[in-house]
Amino acid sequence: MSLTDKQIKAKLDKINTKIGTLLIERENVKANICSHNKVEMTACSNSGNYDPHADSYWYEFHCQVCEKFWTEDQTQYLDRQRKEKFAWEKAREIVKKSRP
Ligand SMILES: [Zn+2]
Repeated sequence: MSLTDKQIKAKLDKINTKIGTLLIERENVKANICSHNKVEMTACSNSGNYDPHADSYWYEFHCQVCEKFWTEDQTQYLDRQRKEKFAWEKAREIVKKSRP
């Protein structure tokens, strides 16, 4: 099959449009459809800095269903969980991990 440059460009434009539509559809599933009920939670830290104010602690979350990845500051997360009485965790299957 021999295509002209114009035909090749048109074909690629068509493919890119389809990819764009699928990427939007995928992000919509992650943002609006998946409840992130099966999550891997990893405690992370950057500590021992000369200036302790530079230390930071956070959790990394990875949904095992939709692959969404996000991070949350540990203090804010724990405060929110206390207020919500850990409702988010109770409703979900969370695999907790720690980095060495
Ligand atoms: Zn999810």
